[in-house]
Amino acid sequence: MSTLKSGILRSSMEVGSRYDFRNGPKPLKNTDDLRLILLGTGDAGGVPLYGCKCPACERARFDPRFIRRPSTALVESRGTQVLIDAGLVDLVERFPPGSITAILLTHFHPDHVQGLFHLRWGKGPRIDVGVPPDPEGCADLYKNNGLLKFQRLQEFSPALFGDVRATPVPLMHSKMTFGYCLEAASARIAYLCDTVGLPSDSIEFLKQWQPDCVILDCCYPPLGRKPRNHNDVHTVLESADAIGAKRVILTHVGHELDLWLMDHAGTLPRHVAVGRDGMVIDDRNTEPSR
Ligand SMILES: [Zn+2]
Ligand SMILES: [Zn+2]
Ligand SMILES: [Zn+2]
Repeated sequence: MSTLKSGILRSSMEVGSRYDFRNGPKPLKNTDDLRLILLGTGDAGGVPLYGCKCPACERARFDPRFIRRPSTALVESRGTQVLIDAGLVDLVERFPPGSITAILLTHFHPDHVQGLFHLRWGKGPRIDVGVPPDPEGCADLYKNNGLLKFQRLQEFSPALFGDVRATPVPLMHSKMTFGYCLEAASARIAYLCDTVGLPSDSIEFLKQWQPDCVILDCCYPPLGRKPRNHNDVHTVLESADAIGAKRVILTHVGHELDLWLMDHAGTLPRHVAVGRDGMVIDDRNTEPSR
């Protein structure tokens, strides 16, 4: 029985563990593997934030391991490579034609789709892009879709992308937004971003579904008020408790949260860790360092 089957996903979370894009992904060791690589863990402004001189932003300028790029994750299983969001603007350099099985968009805010504006004009096989049924999209993406083939997904209706099964769950955000419950072999990862709290039907689904690991939006440090559109540390822990998450990784992190974490090391519960660009989440790697 693999560690995945026992329901434990581990992650390599040494600060700045990097993904080697030039040489491509390492071959997976066995066919049960599912892994998710956080390519961009920043909020819309990213870290360092343009013009900001706070210690967290200065640290990221000095040490690139602390840079947070726009929201993008890569899910791999066997030969499948599915991107979750396309915030990175250099996707065309990272992924050669034919290497992307599909893209799943959480929603159409620019920091999650801006990489598509360049990619769409390329040549090569068409790329399926699963999206929430948002009639607006972003700018002219629906109209001038190029090689992108948009496919509207339905909440709680699973869809298969290569070897990865993705079930969309509605989130709470300023635009129609889906989280994705990702499954391959016996491994389950939930990717829930952007959101503040979770709708009750999504909580019920996730409680039943029992992911090995939950990746959750956490933009802000603990706020003295109810946050809007994105979680702070309080609401992210409430959501994690509500779904009974065994393991939680925070993403969509803003510079203020990084700053707070610099002064509050070890404050988060043991099952909660902070994501980093390049972090690999799978069944083999080491325990997180926080
Ligand atoms: Zn966002
Ligand atoms: Zn800053
Ligand atoms: Zn958003």
